[in-house]
Amino acid sequence: MSEMICQRILLKLSGEALMGQGNFGIDPNVISRLASDIKELVDAGMQVGVVIGGGNIFRGEGLARSGIDRVSGDHMGMLATVMNSMAMQDALQKTGVKARTLSAIKMEQVCDFYVRRNAVQHLEDGEVVILAGGTGNPYFTTDSAASLRAVEIGAQLMIKATKVDGVYSADPVTNPEAVFYPRLSYDQALAEGLKVMDATSIVLCRDNDMPLRVMNINEPGALMRLLQGEDVGSLVESGDGNDR
Ligand code: UDP
Repeated sequence: MSEMICQRILLKLSGEALMGQGNFGIDPNVISRLASDIKELVDAGMQVGVVIGGGNIFRGEGLARSGIDRVSGDHMGMLATVMNSMAMQDALQKTGVKARTLSAIKMEQVCDFYVRRNAVQHLEDGEVVILAGGTGNPYFTTDSAASLRAVEIGAQLMIKATKVDGVYSADPVTNPEAVFYPRLSYDQALAEGLKVMDATSIVLCRDNDMPLRVMNINEPGALMRLLQGEDVGSLVESGDGNDR
């Protein structure tokens, strides 16, 4: 097996990545395929932290639009991320990978509480660590939680898994003129308002020199190829970007 480009990563999966063709909840086939992709990395000796969103179940902003108090809605969204994390933990364990959910919100009957040094220890012990409950605070997203955790656990790379091949100048699904950016800077992503992640999460990566890969999680084998050094998706990093 060829050498991996780094040893510890933080993988961000949106809740929608678990939905498959559906429009709510979790598709068991999709989650077990994602678990197999992660197992491949673990088998290759990688330490993998995972942050999963909750958008396949609840988002605070959407709930607020339908009349639920924003903070309550955000709490519901964070609890949704715990549900997704439990499902991923189960799927990983079924593939024979040791996995542990650590939540930013205390719920001791369900999973452990997130403490950075424990997370790092579990990673060093070869367990996949699923970081649930977002940041534990309303008005944030799980992209921000992913950037924060990536920096905290000392990941060498953060990977944002999406449904498209990387970063484009516009939504490639609706705009055929959209230009693909193989490489760009954090500041370019912010200045052009590119749909990479929200500004808070980009700034956290930028200020802490956390390189970010945006890639298509539905492309078979792409995750492994990326970590074996192939130029998969888009790379967001320091510098002047503009390498279109
Ligand atoms: N959320 C929050 N604080 C956090 C992370 C998430 O309040 O630190 C809530 C927020 O309501 C968000 C929801 O949880 O909409 C689900 O997360 P997100 O929308 O980031 O999920 P994704 O789009 O990745 O599926």
